[in-house]
Amino acid sequence: PVRVRFAPSPTGNLHVGGARTALFNYLFARSKGGKFLLRIEDTDLERSTRESEEAVLRDLSWLGLDWDEGPGVGGDYGPYRQSERNSMYKEYAEKLLQSGQVYRCFCSNEELEKMKEDAKLKQLPPVYTGKWATATDAEVEEELAKGTPYTFRFRVPKGSIKITDLIRGEVSWNLDTLGDFVIMRSNGQPVYNFCVTVDDATMAISHVIRAEEHLPNTLRQALIYKALDFPMPYFAHLSLILAPDRSKLSKRHGATSVGQFKEMGYLPEAMVNYLALLGWGDGTENEFYSLENLVEKFTIDRVNKSGAVFDSTKLRWMNGQHLRARPSEELTKLIAERWKTSNLLTVSAGPFVEESIQLLKDGIDLITDADKALSNLLSYPLHSTLQSHEAEPVIRDSLAEFCASFVAAYDSGDLVGALEEGQAGWQKWVKGFGKSLKRKGKSLFMPLRLLLTGKLHGPDIGTSVVLLYKAGTPGIIAPEVD
Ligand code: GLU
Repeated sequence: PVRVRFAPSPTGNLHVGGARTALFNYLFARSKGGKFLLRIEDTDLERSTRESEEAVLRDLSWLGLDWDEGPGVGGDYGPYRQSERNSMYKEYAEKLLQSGQVYRCFCSNEELEKMKEDAKLKQLPPVYTGKWATATDAEVEEELAKGTPYTFRFRVPKGSIKITDLIRGEVSWNLDTLGDFVIMRSNGQPVYNFCVTVDDATMAISHVIRAEEHLPNTLRQALIYKALDFPMPYFAHLSLILAPDRSKLSKRHGATSVGQFKEMGYLPEAMVNYLALLGWGDGTENEFYSLENLVEKFTIDRVNKSGAVFDSTKLRWMNGQHLRARPSEELTKLIAERWKTSNLLTVSAGPFVEESIQLLKDGIDLITDADKALSNLLSYPLHSTLQSHEAEPVIRDSLAEFCASFVAAYDSGDLVGALEEGQAGWQKWVKGFGKSLKRKGKSLFMPLRLLLTGKLHGPDIGTSVVLLYKAGTPGIIAPEVD
């Protein structure tokens, strides 16, 4: 049975890289009818915090990536925090000691330092060359009797080792330069690679899907699997997430944590969709997926080996796609409430609100865009528009004459009467007005838009004007506060 896990270290926030790893594990499990586990890797007691763990769980839940086993939900393979599994690590370390695949190393830090320096001088790999790999029982007993502190050191075999990586194919390592490594410190603390192996094996993990940067760990973990006679899982190492300049994505490139995107108003379904495309595609042109669609389409063999570029502009665009894909009442409610809380409107329902949303929604990719869109609709920047370079041809083209006719139409009450009748009234009026001036198309609509909205561009002019006319109804637009 397929059993996969996401294993965050609770030392900070959930970043887009971690979120993508979690997502791919989730998709793999769900698409195979398997289980998705969450394991907290808090062996680094100094850097791990409960707040961070809670934040990571919160962000995963927000993304909709629910886990079948782990903190908060339990399961048969717990505990799911490494800090609570110490007795298991001890048990397996003892087992390796018994079988001779691990030995006690009584070397002091000074001795180890000297070994490193000697190797450097001789230009040899920094492998362990101490005597404890081959010490006699009597020598060991003597140190134990003295109470000399010791570590558990793993005896690396000769030759090479290989693993099957579902993304990279076979990966193999020559073991000559590895050197015996510590799996348990002298204070009894097991080291990270040992914990991960014992956990993955005892939690019956079938596929280890994680970031590429863990490949060197995989080498050590594979050796421990072999030594403990654990069946080796399949591995899948996901490529790096890169910034647009192809350097490793980091804080200096802007928002990188899921929490930040959430705060900026991104939708979880847009995040999930975008993260899935970082290194995966179903082979068609399609880029729009819900989490359910992804579960349906996801296969690990379509995951890309090369680095994936994180493009925040595309994420933003994708958010707009998902925002507009929300059911109409939901979208209306979302934007209306935003306008109300941003103090742009005094009401959060009614025809003005609904019609404005219909008119403006195509320009709203992120919920925060809604404020700009509405303020822009309501603004009348005639002066700066006239001063803009773009306005020149319009002005040259007898705006004064146009203006006079417009004022006449306004004064006669014709325009207002038409607007009272809504869209149909407007259409009729504009046709007649154009005829009287012998203008149509751009030469009619551009100056008209300019006079009515103070702008040269914007959403459909008829709808805008009818809406703005209605907005004159007292009480809808919140009074401006300085
Ligand atoms: N705890 C590791 C990390 O947060 C993950 C280790 C793993 O997936 O094996 O990078």
